[in-house]
Formats: sequence, C-alpha cells, structure tokens
Amino acid sequence: MTAQIIDGNAIARATRAQWKDRAEILARRGVTPGLAVVLVGDNPASRVYVRGKIKACAETGLYSELHEFPGDVPQATVFARIQALAADPKIHGILVQLPLPPYFDGNAVLEAVPVDKDVDGFHLYNLGGLVVGHTLFPPCTPAGVMRMLDYLQLPIEGQNAVIVGRSNIVGKPMALMLLARSATVSVCTSRTRDLTQYTRLADILVVATGKAGLVTGPMVKEGAAVIDVGINRLPDGKLVGDVDFASVRERAGWITPVPGGVGPMTITMLLANTVQAAERYADSKRR
Ligand code: NAD
Repeated sequence: MTAQIIDGNAIARATRAQWKDRAEILARRGVTPGLAVVLVGDNPASRVYVRGKIKACAETGLYSELHEFPGDVPQATVFARIQALAADPKIHGILVQLPLPPYFDGNAVLEAVPVDKDVDGFHLYNLGGLVVGHTLFPPCTPAGVMRMLDYLQLPIEGQNAVIVGRSNIVGKPMALMLLARSATVSVCTSRTRDLTQYTRLADILVVATGKAGLVTGPMVKEGAAVIDVGINRLPDGKLVGDVDFASVRERAGWITPVPGGVGPMTITMLLANTVQAAERYADSKRR
C-alpha cells in the first residue's frame, strides 16, 4: 500500500478561509482580533515559528504585535509585559513562544497569561480542562491534528490511537482529545518497552518526540493514519519529522509530510483561538 499524503497546507487554507470570514464580520462590529507574541532570546527555530504566526495573522485579517526580549531579560520584566497585554483591549490573545531560557519558571509564565487570552491553550485551566471536556482554548497542535482527521473524515471512535511522546503541549492533550472522541488510546514514552508492539496496533499513530526517523515502516500497521508532529533539522539543514517518510509511506494509509503537515494546522488553530477570543470579548462588550 502507498499512503495518501495529507496536505496540511491545503487543509489549513480551507480552514483559515472560514476564520478569515469570521474575523471580517468581527471587524465590521469594530473589533479586529489581536494577537501578541512574546519572544525571549534568539532561538533561530523560535524566530521562524514566530514569523510564520505573524504572517498568518496578517493574511487572515488579524492584528498582531511582537514583543521581543533579550535572552538574559529578568523574568519580572516579561511578567510585567504580560500583565500590560492582559489589560490591553486591542489584544485578545497572548502567546509566549517556547522554549523560554532555562532560568525562567516556565509554568509561572504560562499561568500569568489570563485564561481568556490563553490562545496557545497552555494555561493550567485550559490543559486541565481537557480531562473533563471543558476548556476555553484547546492547545493548538493537538487541536490541529483533530481538525485534520475530521477534515479527512477518518474514523476516530473505537479506533486504536497510539501516541508516541507525552509532552504537556502535544502528547498528553492529544491523548485526552482522542479519548474524548472514544478512541482506545495508548501513550508511549522514551521508557516504553518494545515501542513497535504498540505502534503496530495503531489505526491512528501520532508521533511527537523530536527524534528524527524514530518510526519506520515495519513499526506501522498496514493502512494506518500516521501523523508526524516532529520537526527536526538535520546537519545538512533539511527539515524532517519523527517518522521515516519513505518507508512508512509504503505501509500507511495516510501520512503527513514534514514540512507541510501538522505545522500549518498548528498555526491555523492559533488563528481560530484568537478569533474566538475576540468574539467572546466583543460579545462581553455588548452585554
Ligand atoms: P518534548 O521534548 O517536550 O517531548 C518529547 C516526548 O517524546 C517526551 O514525552 C519523551 O518521553 C518522548 N520520547 C522521546 N524519545 C522517545 C522514544 N525514543 N520513544 C518514545 N517516546 C520518546 O517535545 P514536544 O514539545 O512534544 O515536541 C515534539 C516534537 O514535535 C518536536 O520535534 C517539536 O519540534 C515538534 N512540534 C511540532 C509542532 C508543530 O506544529 N508541528 C508543535 C509542537 C512541537
């Protein structure tokens, strides 16, 4: 079997068009959705992601601001800026680009973002809310994966879903979202004994480890939907995922490429969350 390639760019384009329309409707009501991006330090990958987010805002009719700080900025300075953005009526969503420098208390920074502007969905309330099926904003990457599966009308209920990687921003929320849709979910970590035993069971396999080429063809069930969240830069500069695309493509039913798979969907869900934050703001002003 040769897998169908999931075109994340095309799905993102179709999805963004809807959010662009909603942003326009809102702008006619006098509220332009606004996103503030906080960037600390000069991590080159973070700069690329931030540029992509700001460009996507402009293309979708959102206002955006970039708040940059040097890598040795005192934490208190960043907290103060987040507080100012929290009170700014032009700004409906605040995103703190990760990773933060090691001396930062990352959890404290993420919780300084008010829940109703937490468009990345990383606040304790939004992450924890996934356990009981109630969040204001779902985290963008797993929400983007769900959107992709739904767009392609791939079955979720009753499917075996295996997630490789259990980070707070991808693996764990992904597991909760698939569980909420009645998939049978397994989560694997770097300590999982015999990873292949699990991955071969998966009808839906989501890989988010940051380990280039970790999942290879023989590890995948024939016909599975393989979603590669990983983004790894090889020494020659090439961007690859966590899945060995060439060998897995020969067994899977569906596969996301890197780049052009999950990445555009992550940004799309950020736009969606920001427009929804602005809609809630506009509604609250009308009451
Ligand atoms: P992370 O480092 O926080 O977590 C990685 C997880 O993978 C950990 O839970 C670890 O236990 C697990 N892991 C590591 N090696 C493993 C192995 N050999 N077998 C099984 N599990 C293993 O990373 P993250 O933030 O979840 O990101 C993962 C990858 O996804 C990275 O490459 C990151 O750049 C990428 N990412 C992409 C997007 C996107 O929009 N496409 C968004 C977020 C993250």
